[in-house]
Amino acid sequence: MRLNLSLVPSPVQIMRDLLGPEKTYVVGGILRDSLLASFPTPMQTIEVVKGNDWDLATPIRPREVLSRLRKAGITAVPIGIEHGTVAAIFSGVQYEITTFRNDLEYRDGRHPIVQFADSIEEDLKRRDFTVNALALDLESGELIDLFNGIEDLRARQIRTVGDPECRFREDYLRMLRAARFAGKLHGTIETVTFLAIRKNAPWIRHVSAERIREEILKLLAYEKPSHGFELMHECGLLHYVLPELEAGFGVLQNRFHSHDVARHILLSVDAVSHKYPFYRFVTLLHDLGKVPAKRFLERKGDYVFYSHQYISKRMGKQIMRRLRFSNKEIEQSTSIVENHMYNLKPDLSQSATRRFLRKLGRENVDGFLRMRMADRKGNLLNNEGYEKGIFHFLRNLRKIDRDEDALKVRDLKISGYDLIEMGLKPGPIFSTILDQLLEEVLDDPSLNDRAWLLARANEFAAEFKQTGKITVTERAANRDDDEDEEGEENDQSQ
Ligand code: ATP
Ligand code: MG
Repeated sequence: MRLNLSLVPSPVQIMRDLLGPEKTYVVGGILRDSLLASFPTPMQTIEVVKGNDWDLATPIRPREVLSRLRKAGITAVPIGIEHGTVAAIFSGVQYEITTFRNDLEYRDGRHPIVQFADSIEEDLKRRDFTVNALALDLESGELIDLFNGIEDLRARQIRTVGDPECRFREDYLRMLRAARFAGKLHGTIETVTFLAIRKNAPWIRHVSAERIREEILKLLAYEKPSHGFELMHECGLLHYVLPELEAGFGVLQNRFHSHDVARHILLSVDAVSHKYPFYRFVTLLHDLGKVPAKRFLERKGDYVFYSHQYISKRMGKQIMRRLRFSNKEIEQSTSIVENHMYNLKPDLSQSATRRFLRKLGRENVDGFLRMRMADRKGNLLNNEGYEKGIFHFLRNLRKIDRDEDALKVRDLKISGYDLIEMGLKPGPIFSTILDQLLEEVLDDPSLNDRAWLLARANEFAAEFKQTGKITVTERAANRDDDEDEEGEENDQSQ
């Protein structure tokens, strides 16, 4: 099997000439993905390249690589000199050059003791799976395939290079990578490899949260992540990686649903575009609370999951902390999960829309809507007539955006400084007053007027100075706001 060498971009050709053509190989994902895209045509030459990660491998030691590139005037940075990797940058695009390694020794199933090697054969042998152990000879255009990776790729199966148990013991994360790549291929994990994972799945607990998170996010960027998660379930990894999702397998829902909780979640995840792996992750969390929330309601003669969104929110927060997501990501995700049951009635008022946006956060609307649509698609029994509420909500939203209606305290044309001017001392009363002003403005945006707000705040300040508290009005629109329970009563298909 060959690759048409005219497909190799000029930066790679330049580096080949600098490092010596007999000493430079293309390795890694780009070969696998280009081959995959060329199937099932029986052509002997790959004519289309898939992807743009041109990773190179060479026997030349990293310092020498660095100096040769720099001497030629190429921007080059050591991005992991201890792993032997140098990055060369051509017009903003990064190319990685890694010195051959054999990594014969591993410490504690996580960290290789890097040893440089002299032959491409040794380097390919240390790679995880046969489909990831291909190399392209840049002189002849021939693919080097020492472990039948091309055949495995054709069969869409993931098989370790060498004995799976040994390879997994070297690096436990490879077990999860097996499920991820099989997910990518829409394929399977070869039997011996699969059985080794089943046997050793508990080892995955020793892998750092960051590495696991990155694997999950990569899986979520594939076309159909459900496939990889199903494999993780089958080989026993999911129990350790996301026990909360594992618990949803076999938990049947009610007459509104065709799938158990886990499969409904996974179908919903598939239904979010692969361009948004983070929203897919949020979707993965949205119904986890259904497992603990499930109960039988005599009156309905069926199961209900009341308040599951709040349980999902708590569980999701724990999961994201465990996987070391940033606080900002956690906040965004919990807000979407918590609000995912909100009843988007086709006649939702403008003020109710503003109140909802205040809870959700304007910046989370995109994620919320993507998840809502996907949630519906994830339920094969019920996905008709649902768009009305969404279209109406979008119309309301457009008006709110156009009018720049205030949705949070910071949007008010008054601030804490004004309260200080009124002789108040900063303290909890500040947010009580500002929240109350926002409530009134949410009801009637025309009240976001500085003169009016100052006058109203002065009333509160005077009252506070006299009585030590302020009279908070009953929210006028309360009735069309906190209605989650009622919403759930009416709509159990989410
Ligand atoms: P992706 O498109 O997902 O990035 P990739 O094949 O480029 O796919 P990477 O994780 O970027 O995957 O790794 C690049 C290459 O390095 C792999 O193809 C594989 O040969 C090797 N590799 C990466 N991680 C490991 C590992 N843990 N053990 C052995 N080899 C590995
Ligand atoms: Mg890669």
